[in-house]
Amino acid sequence: MERTELNTLGEFGLIDRIKTKFNLQNTESVKGIGDDAAVIDIGNQYMLISTDMLLEGVHFDLSYAPLRHLGYKAVAVNVSDIAAMNGIAKSITVGIGLSNRISVEAVDEIYEGIKFACEDYKVDLIGGDTTSSRSGLVISITVTGVVDKDKVAYRSGAKVNDILCVTGDLGAAYFGLQILEREKQEYIANPSMQPDLEEKSYLVGKQLKPEARADIIHELAEVGVVPSAMIDISDGLASEILHLSTQSGVGALIFEDKLPIEDITMLTATEFNISPVTAALNGGEDYQLLFTVKQADFDKIKNISDITPIGYMTEDKAVELVLNSGAKASIQAQGWNHLQ
Ligand code: ADP
Ligand code: MG
Repeated sequence: MERTELNTLGEFGLIDRIKTKFNLQNTESVKGIGDDAAVIDIGNQYMLISTDMLLEGVHFDLSYAPLRHLGYKAVAVNVSDIAAMNGIAKSITVGIGLSNRISVEAVDEIYEGIKFACEDYKVDLIGGDTTSSRSGLVISITVTGVVDKDKVAYRSGAKVNDILCVTGDLGAAYFGLQILEREKQEYIANPSMQPDLEEKSYLVGKQLKPEARADIIHELAEVGVVPSAMIDISDGLASEILHLSTQSGVGALIFEDKLPIEDITMLTATEFNISPVTAALNGGEDYQLLFTVKQADFDKIKNISDITPIGYMTEDKAVELVLNSGAKASIQAQGWNHLQ
């Protein structure tokens, strides 16, 4: 029998392969595989469902990720996928796989974080599953949400000349991870050393305890704007723009000097000798929202703080970055590929 290695397909190739083997049979299933959440017709509204899994050794390292933060993050990254559909998260189920390294007190801590997030995002924990794990801690969360039928935002709705906007700032979570990794190596070399993360607390915080931008969904509703397309930034701006662009059948032009990057991110980028733009494009785990609006809607959102226009959608299918030098660079996806 033929054997194909997973990395020949990559994560997205594999998902596509699964997708082509299934047809939606129920009229209630409005949107299946391929967006941030599935869309189910429940009558007067749509229900949204999404799952995200965090694995020890792949997504987090228990030597520096506090369990409370881990619980919080596991919920936040799920709520983020509901926000990416312009929806409001309502409930979660939590599946946990526990290795024998995890004590009852440790489980308590994870659930304290989950509870904090449930309160922050007003979601109810309604169930889950508990098993033992031989390969470290696993936290798998499924989230449900709701959205009015005329307000759902798919990845596929962007039109030529729509303005491309991003919330918050980019690249910080990536450098947060670099700092944590560096401190871990230094600690291994010299265990008596106490890490000094004070100065970098912004970056480390973005990595360990990201927030879902549910606030932005409420702000957009207040000004009466429905994004023409939306996605959350889990793998990195580059990868997500390519998703919007491919699924919408349009191109995109973004501008280096418009990318929202904090000073501390810039400074740390220099320290690590990594381009801040590369980190903003490919770092990932920002959990900000990337969305497009019609030009006519832009006036209504331009005063919302924390939303930055970074470019616009174009007729030809290219996805390009206009550098400060004036030169154009083609954008390639180099987001996290957990399968490699
Ligand atoms: P996100 O980064 O927003 O969480 P993913 O890239 O994980 O999205 O998933 C993209 C789409 O593929 C989603 O619709 C998701 O439900 C679907 N998907 C991912 N993995 C699987 C799988 N193993 N089987 C079926 N669908 C999957
Ligand atoms: Mg997503």
